[in-house]
Amino acid sequence: MSPENNHLWNETLAQVREMILPHQYHTWIEHLTFQEQSDRTLILSSPNYFIKEWIDKNYANPLAMAAEKVLGFRPVVEILVEEPPSEPESQTSPQPKQTDALRVEEKKRQSEFEIQLNRNYTFDNFVVGPCNRIGHAAALAVVENPGHAYNPLFLHGSVGLGKTHLMQSICHAMLQRQENAQILYLSCESFVNQFISAIQKGDIETFRYKYRHVDMILIDDIHFLANKERTQDEFFHTFNVLYNAHKQIILSSDAAPKEIPSLEDRLVSRFKWGLVTQMQAPDFETRVAILQRKAKLRNRVLPDKEAQFIASKIDTNMRELEGAVVKVLGYASLANRDVDIPLIQEALSDTLETQQKKITLEHVKDAVVESFGVKLSELQSKRRHKSISHPRQIAMFLARELTDYSLEEVGGYFGGRDHTTVMYAADKIRQNSKIDSTLMATLENLTRQIKKAQG
Ligand code: ADP
Ligand code: MG
Repeated sequence: MSPENNHLWNETLAQVREMILPHQYHTWIEHLTFQEQSDRTLILSSPNYFIKEWIDKNYANPLAMAAEKVLGFRPVVEILVEEPPSEPESQTSPQPKQTDALRVEEKKRQSEFEIQLNRNYTFDNFVVGPCNRIGHAAALAVVENPGHAYNPLFLHGSVGLGKTHLMQSICHAMLQRQENAQILYLSCESFVNQFISAIQKGDIETFRYKYRHVDMILIDDIHFLANKERTQDEFFHTFNVLYNAHKQIILSSDAAPKEIPSLEDRLVSRFKWGLVTQMQAPDFETRVAILQRKAKLRNRVLPDKEAQFIASKIDTNMRELEGAVVKVLGYASLANRDVDIPLIQEALSDTLETQQKKITLEHVKDAVVESFGVKLSELQSKRRHKSISHPRQIAMFLARELTDYSLEEVGGYFGGRDHTTVMYAADKIRQNSKIDSTLMATLENLTRQIKKAQG
């Protein structure tokens, strides 16, 4: 093979790699060797029939598409089979042996893919209560009957209520049933980033192939699509292709579809085609059960009385509860003491104090007014001049981050604005702070001031 051809083949492989999942690439495509390219035919060879047939059946298209990108025309791809090595064993049963080896390989690759899943986020570890019963039942139904039970399944609710845990439980259960199921689980942020990089590379086709050839797609935190028109448009088409092929779509968000800022109507309506369900904050009994389950996961026992004590103090979300368990158990083993109420009070003294002294909207307002030299009346006015609207958006962002007030309450306080304005403002500041280090420093400064004033 000439160096030139070698280079073209490597380029082709790189393209294929972008189109399919890593374990598919390693299990199948990697075994191919380039033989020659004559006229419009690309001749490859495979170590055996099994691989050849599988690739002919499943990967002929991506291969031809990838080669087309490199060669500038779409070649006919022909896969030859190399002579099998004449081992004594392979004469009796050559095929099963290869197949077994491939299975092992496939399993190994599969587990690479699973690394992106948290091992503990399974149905077994998910505590069911009135707050999440419907979401849990729907998730089970989707595993039983993917693409048909509820499509799409849309889980929403505020942070720490188990959306990610439930989605990953679905992935684990699906992979347990069918180890080579083609499942994509990713954050919406990663979808957006990959889309942007595909546009930059001028290679939207590869991106599309990847997202449109799966059995199930789970996109976490889909509210990240807010205000991103082009990605929304792309996702709309991805959605349609998968939906029409009866592939299961599962989405999570911190808000109901119609509350995601500037989400296109056609997406809002599609998100409601299947089942939309809200994950609620846990009630007392569920909180106790979660605390005990989290202790058990760490091979420790949290007695009822102690669990109830913590549950009565922490009533926000599952993440806080888990954090409390970690703190209490860690404290107990460091101090080499039993877990009892006095120990819990010591271990959680920080958390319990801040729970009592809550940050208010006044704290936020005071810090912003002082730092930007604006007047409260201006913050609460309808004025849209940037010198006023910027601090106002920052105030809304901080109110969302640091207080428990609802979107409506925050909007009401800062000039009678509706909840979408607050969501939009908070989202904008959050996004900008990621790329603007001055803004990030301002936010950190303000947060410090607010906490100081409140504490
Ligand atoms: P979200 O994605 O809604 O923000 P997560 O799924 O990340 O929330 O959950 C936060 C933490 O709380 C995780 O560690 C998760 O395991 C735990 N958790 C949430 N809901 C439950 C539940 N019902 N049972 C057990 N653990 C839960
Ligand atoms: Mg999450």
